[in-house]
Amino acid sequence: MDTQSTRLSLPSEPRTFGFYVDGAEVPAGGRDVFERNSPGHDVPVTRIPKCTPADLDDAVDAARRAFDDRRWSGLNGQARAAVLLRAGALIRERAEEIAYWETLENGKPISQARGEVAGCADMFDYASGLARSLHGDSFNNLGDGMFGLVTREPVGVVGIITPWNFPFLILCERVPYILASGCTIVVKPSEVTSATTLILAQILTEAGLPAGCMNVVTGSGSTIGQALIEHPRVDMLSFTGSTAVGRRVVEAAGKSNFKKLGLELGGKNPQIVFADADLEDAADGVAFGIAFNTGQCCVSGSRLIVERSVANEFAQMVQDKLAKAVVGDPLDEATQVGAITTDAQNRTIMDYIAKGQAEGARLICGGEALDMGRGQYIAPTIFGDVTPDMAIAREEIFGPVLTILPFDTVDEAISIANDTEYGLAASVWTKNIDKALMVTRRVQAGRFWVNCTLAGGPELPLGGFKQSGWGREAGIYGVEEYTQVKSVHIEIGKRTPWIA
Ligand code: NDP
Repeated sequence: MDTQSTRLSLPSEPRTFGFYVDGAEVPAGGRDVFERNSPGHDVPVTRIPKCTPADLDDAVDAARRAFDDRRWSGLNGQARAAVLLRAGALIRERAEEIAYWETLENGKPISQARGEVAGCADMFDYASGLARSLHGDSFNNLGDGMFGLVTREPVGVVGIITPWNFPFLILCERVPYILASGCTIVVKPSEVTSATTLILAQILTEAGLPAGCMNVVTGSGSTIGQALIEHPRVDMLSFTGSTAVGRRVVEAAGKSNFKKLGLELGGKNPQIVFADADLEDAADGVAFGIAFNTGQCCVSGSRLIVERSVANEFAQMVQDKLAKAVVGDPLDEATQVGAITTDAQNRTIMDYIAKGQAEGARLICGGEALDMGRGQYIAPTIFGDVTPDMAIAREEIFGPVLTILPFDTVDEAISIANDTEYGLAASVWTKNIDKALMVTRRVQAGRFWVNCTLAGGPELPLGGFKQSGWGREAGIYGVEEYTQVKSVHIEIGKRTPWIA
């Protein structure tokens, strides 16, 4: 890495990783290896083993043993917290390395990756406190002869399947909370972005996490991912990705052991802008909400629902903002919008742009692939004259493509916002507190932003309404999600006999 320049260098050769089982890295050996090309540069950057179903069984067995012998769940909260705190510190120590490999595999700007890694360390710090404060309830009002307790117990072995858009962030929105609950873990990262998940496994071992509590199996979704969702010895599965695979997860759970599920799926998230908003702030927020992570973001604000009286002026303001966003080499410190992560996603986005034009929407800006000499890039794109029935208004594009839908009344804005099968996130921009609160209450979304967008942190939970998913991650809600509730009745004194 050339730290003198404002642009980091590419690695001289691909970095080779093993997968991770029972506290140790397992080299690929005779297994096939997946070579990942950097989407921003089109050169090989990592080599990752393609695990076999037998490797997955070994990982689940290790997690099962670690859970069943209570080497982790049997520790007190203080001891679990100490490991999580050390992990947070080690993430900070290795932050530059994690951000670098995240950028190379994903294509996101290095400055953004650094910010995400700092946020991830903070998740571990926060979850450490939750390991100590997690508690149940008691009922002291059941009469003199009875005392009631409600305890929380860890669910058991948790499988995690993560996508390629935020490989480290999405992982860290789950792992520290799951470990705080006392569960053990088997992760299957997306095959194209496995490196930083493997680095986290190393960090957790160094931080003192007992062997078997964090295992990582690498390989494709259709083989290893499918085997994990069907696995009968996995007690719970946290899946983040497409709604299509989310449906397969639900089917597989029904056909195997009815494992508990957490699902974070797609979104088609509204950004509602009223004429009385601070339009300068709103334009900046809307541009950020669609171009951040090249729009490959389940919570990206992809539907701009704007009051008709300011619609044209506001579209121009967003266009001006996007024209200034720096699109380019992810390893350049100045870059704000990087590369599209996979070839398949690049095709999907370009197909939607063509479909929008064929459907009669008006291309206001962008709409083309950008030639940077190498890698795959798409210019931030805005469509006007969009009608609610168009595919670009209804389907998750997962790219930097904004559709504009005008409205005249508050009711109409709310109705357009809710006219979707999804319910992941939403933003409202207005300086009128009544309108802000009314919209916040009535729009169906698991995350809501008032005069901001994409804000987050370890305290507030994540998850969706409607077909955006089940359950919540992060915060105390994210720890409780990985527990089961047990009610305990305790008789005090002599029993009233049933048979005299
Ligand atoms: P997928 O849902 O296919 O991938 C997400 C994760 O699931 C990856 O780890 C993938 O592994 C794994 N996976 C794939 N197939 C299976 C399976 N049969 N059983 C178990 N796990 C599986 O998303 P895509 O990568 O194909 O992206 C397609 C669309 O999904 C995007 O256009 C976007 O709309 C949406 N998406 C939403 C995300 C979100 O954050 N909500 C994140 C990513 C995508 P692998 O990658 O190794 O095949």
